[in-house]
Amino acid sequence: MRCDKAMVFDHHVHLEHGPYNPHDYPEVWVAQYFATADRMDVAGIGLVEHAYRFIEARGLLPGQWALERCRYSLATYHSRIRQITEKYPAALGLEMDFVPEQVAGIKKFLAQHPWDFVLGSVHFLGEFGLDVRDMDHYYTEWGPELVWGRYYETTIAAVESDLFDVITHPDLPKLFGHPKPSQKFLDPWYRRLADALNAHQVAIEINTAGLRRPVEEIYPAPRLLEWAHRAEVPITIGSDAHEPENVGIFFPEALLLAKHAGYQSALGFRHGERQLLPLE
Ligand SMILES: [Zn+2]
Ligand SMILES: [Zn+2]
Repeated sequence: MRCDKAMVFDHHVHLEHGPYNPHDYPEVWVAQYFATADRMDVAGIGLVEHAYRFIEARGLLPGQWALERCRYSLATYHSRIRQITEKYPAALGLEMDFVPEQVAGIKKFLAQHPWDFVLGSVHFLGEFGLDVRDMDHYYTEWGPELVWGRYYETTIAAVESDLFDVITHPDLPKLFGHPKPSQKFLDPWYRRLADALNAHQVAIEINTAGLRRPVEEIYPAPRLLEWAHRAEVPITIGSDAHEPENVGIFFPEALLLAKHAGYQSALGFRHGERQLLPLE
């Protein structure tokens, strides 16, 4: 690992697009991610994949949308990424959807292999995919308080499940720019989430992908990050890159947000261990 530059990891990077064997993720593709990391002063990459891409996750997510995407082998993914972590400064992870009714199934799914870290995400409220463009009529049908109330209720349950190391993009319902509930409504949810994260030793993610979505804002809102800092919840930083060129994108903005909230370090995962790394 390099020591001459900032030690920030990009802990949310997807390789995507194929079945994960060396043929489909040839060295030349993987090397591009680490070349970008080098250029962007990112010390290492946390590789994750969406659990819904795996055959073994069939039935863990609601609806046809996810079912149609469960195609690849979890074992192949695990061994391919493990190979990459032996050669590059990388960590082996997964981005797992939290579905309250499936806690036992998710636990069994995750226990099949050892992971350096697991990101917990709430993308679905029942069959409503919060980031699925053709489902965004739900935002107007439900209204802001129902969407955001259910989102935080589910996110807090995800934290309390003790299945995850990090909660990702922790104000995802803002992504399309639909109206948000009032600050008076949101503040108690932020506080409850921050307290739960602290109690269960789960980190919160600063995710720069929101800057590439219609809302054009980093996840989470500064105010949620302030609550998290007050509750002594550690952060990770992630680009949510799905292509090599987005590794480490908008990290200066993420670091600024972290520092404004009072953070001086971010969490890193290497070989299954947690390390607090200074932001400078
Ligand atoms: Zn996600
Ligand atoms: Zn992601």
